[in-house]
Order: sequence, then structure tokens, then C-alpha cells
Amino acid sequence: MARVCLDPGHGGYDPGAVGISGLKEKDITLAVALETGSYLTNSGIEVIFTRDCDQVSWPSEINQDLAGRCRIANQANADLFISIHCNSAGNPDARGTETYSYTLSDRNQKGAEASRLIQAELVASLGLQNRGTKTNNFYVLRETVMPAVLTELAFLSNSEEEQLLSQPDFRTRACKAIARAVIKYFGLSLADLNQVSTGPRLVINGEPAVNVPYRIIEGKTYVELVSFISSLGGQSLWDEKTKSINIQIKKSYNA
Ligand SMILES: [Zn+2]
Repeated sequence: MARVCLDPGHGGYDPGAVGISGLKEKDITLAVALETGSYLTNSGIEVIFTRDCDQVSWPSEINQDLAGRCRIANQANADLFISIHCNSAGNPDARGTETYSYTLSDRNQKGAEASRLIQAELVASLGLQNRGTKTNNFYVLRETVMPAVLTELAFLSNSEEEQLLSQPDFRTRACKAIARAVIKYFGLSLADLNQVSTGPRLVINGEPAVNVPYRIIEGKTYVELVSFISSLGGQSLWDEKTKSINIQIKKSYNA
């Protein structure tokens, strides 16, 4: 089974770029990674996330942050690493989509191939300016041992593109584009991509739960706690001192 590590850029202490209206890069990258992950899982691809909520498992320091992400991908033996970002520039007119692979390495060819596929699908689906595929010595591209890609979906520093990034429909197009590229990369079938789920659907308060990773194992449903609680409008917080997970849900759901 093909295994992909999805890396939602930034998170926790690090908001990443912040748009004019206050949209944070870390929230966009997380939403895109989780939804992309659900499409990949439906298509028979195993997905590992470097983070699947706003809490991060690494210290609040940039080098340890990036090292932590690479360690997760390397230890999971992923076949492909995809770091998801939104761009930012001093010039508010800068716009468009670009995708990176690593500069010099044996795995460069596979990484460059994945980068081309992702860029092509994103440009076709989002219709933004095609800034092309590029190479760079980015930490997460260099220190991961598998083919690795970093994609910049659009510019948060461009008010039009920030507006687009805030729309769930626009993000869904990006997620499906990335998923389609990954499915093509592994030579798998695109048949399952447009289905919400090939198995039983998880529906929460009448809405298909695209942002809640879940599995059914031997007839029991296992959901990822933080996303599940948050989809119910609640909060879950880790208390390091007492080693407890504190969950708070609105009264109406307790009944
Ligand atoms: Zn970023």
C-alpha cells in the first residue's frame, strides 16, 4: 500500500503567513491536509500527518520544528512527502501557485515528477497564475529521505487569493487536485476520488465529516479525538501536569 506523509505547514506557536483579513496559513494548511488525506484514504492510500490539529508534537523552535516533521515522515517510511503551504510576499500583487522539489539528489527525479503532477492539477483546478515548478534547498525537502514536494497553493498576501483560500469550495478543489496528482503518481485508479467515502460515511449533525479522520475496525468506529470534538463544537485540551485530556462540549450534545 502506498504511504503518503502530509505536512500541514506551520501550526501551534507558528501561524505562518497571516492575510490582510487575519486568515492564518496554519489553519488553511491543516484544513487542506486533512481533507486531502480523506480523499487519499478513500483511494486506498495510507496517510500519515505530521500534525492533525493545531497542537504540535515538536518544541517551539524552527529547526526542531522542521526536524520533527521530517522525523515523522522518515520513521513512518513514507513513499512520498507533501508539505502544504500558502505563499506570502511583500508585493501585494504577487499571485499564483508554485510547487517545489529538492535540488540535488537521486530522489530528485521522483520528487520533481510528483511536483509536476501536483502543480499541473492545482493550476487546472484552481485557475490561478502558473508560477511553475521550482527546486529549492528547503529543510523539509532536504532532510526527508523519500521523494518530497512543497506546494504553495496561493498567496495569503494577495487579498483576492486570501478571499479564495477562505472558501471551503475553493479549498476542496485544491484538495482534490493534490489527491488526483498523488493517485496518478502511484498509478492508482481515480475512480474513488469523487466519492465522499467508499465505506460507511461519517455524518455529524447532518454534514459529511470530511475533516474528521476515522476508521472502522472490527465493527467499531475509531475517530481522531481532537477533530471529532471540534466538529461537535467542543474543545479538547491536553494538560501536561495531570496527564489528562480535558474535553468540553456544549451542553446540548451531552443529552
Ligand atoms: Zn508556509
